[in-house]
Amino acid sequence: MVLAVDCSRDGWTGCYPVTPHRFKTQGLSPNMQAVRWHPPSYDIRVETIPTPEIKHPDDAIVKVKLAALCGSDLHIYRGHAGVDKIHTCGHEFIGEVVALGSSYGSNVEGRPKLYSTLKVGDKVVSPFTVNCGECHVCRLGYTARCPEGALFGSPALEGGQAQYVRVPKAGGTLFNLSNPDTWSSALSSHDKEKALTGLSDSSLLMLADILPTGVFAATQAVNHPKVLPVVTGRPWPQCLSPEATTEGNEISFTPEDRILTIAVIGLGPVGICATIGLLDVVATRQIPYRIVAIDLLEARREKMKAVFAAIDPSGKGDGEFVVLDMDAAKAQVKKWTGAVGCTAILEVVGHADALSAAYDLVRAFGVIVSVGVHGAPPMPFTGRQLYNKNVSFDFGRCPARAMFPPAFDLLVKRQDVFGGVGQPASLIDRIVNFEEATESYRAFDKGEVGKVIFSPWK
Ligand SMILES: [Zn+2]
Ligand SMILES: [Zn+2]
Repeated sequence: MVLAVDCSRDGWTGCYPVTPHRFKTQGLSPNMQAVRWHPPSYDIRVETIPTPEIKHPDDAIVKVKLAALCGSDLHIYRGHAGVDKIHTCGHEFIGEVVALGSSYGSNVEGRPKLYSTLKVGDKVVSPFTVNCGECHVCRLGYTARCPEGALFGSPALEGGQAQYVRVPKAGGTLFNLSNPDTWSSALSSHDKEKALTGLSDSSLLMLADILPTGVFAATQAVNHPKVLPVVTGRPWPQCLSPEATTEGNEISFTPEDRILTIAVIGLGPVGICATIGLLDVVATRQIPYRIVAIDLLEARREKMKAVFAAIDPSGKGDGEFVVLDMDAAKAQVKKWTGAVGCTAILEVVGHADALSAAYDLVRAFGVIVSVGVHGAPPMPFTGRQLYNKNVSFDFGRCPARAMFPPAFDLLVKRQDVFGGVGQPASLIDRIVNFEEATESYRAFDKGEVGKVIFSPWK
């Protein structure tokens, strides 16, 4: 998820059932430290609260090794989210399983594999929302909207910026990094295992949200049916079916027609991950491209430039890549395409102004993919405007559980940018302890620091 002003309509109030079962969590100290938000706004406190316990047989308790601060934590921080409940913040965490409910065993029939394989001591990373892994919605891969889902670090579910966190439906939700055979990958089992030994925890933590969300945005854009004529070289509607003949068509494509022109609006951590994901797709599939990455802030543009420079040539293919502010970007797209506009736009801000700009930049029969969490203001265009441009939209939260396998593969491939901390091309600025949590929220909110990670036991 990415920064916006208000996500009260975003549905974080999951419908995870409250059950009467309670199981004592053995061997853990009764209290822990947690980063808590207090109403109405800008009030972050590090507090001692009871250590979470297993409440339902499907629960796991995770000892948090690292937890990240994310742009979307700022919705509540600023008091824009209509929340009045004190709660533990954070939806990005990595750690170790320290307790499991009674659903877990050696041979659990008919349930996700983790109910049989997850053990105390396993290293896990969690997607930012819970999902059951057992319903129609989860089976289709739309795990972000599981009817039993809930968002960590919201009034519905205590977050991961704590020494321990309770994970409901953990057998459907978690990724077991101690058992790489529990997810698919383009890498062989051996290569996956070898890669895992070389990945730092701060790098693996990107799999909780920012990397899958970025890959999700890029994937939706490049695979959208409206983009197919450009990437297949076959016109609409023959592009939709490989077996459809184009014999007899009078018009043939020029090389120019085959260039994918994409704008990425918003270069926070998710926007940068989306751009890296996009570059990887065009490089892998050898799609000629022109990409303009846009942000109003110079510091973010400089970060994007440093990231692009650090990416191995094999990860950025053959095309033009520029990083600009909005006015310069509009001029650049005009220069590239005349009056036509971009094939697709990745909107990674979550603000009406960004959507307006996306509409201006997109061509007719273009695609706007939006992974920004949008707030209360109405959509900044009329039905007539959308009709006039035949615009397609893809909105919404990333199914991070489903996107984990391709995100993991990209994390392994792109250690040239995802591996570092505090370098010009790093997405993570610093790792701090909880004593610096209050100040980190303040500085992050003011844009004085980039992505911050908390180390709860330091
Ligand atoms: Zn996040
Ligand atoms: Zn489900």
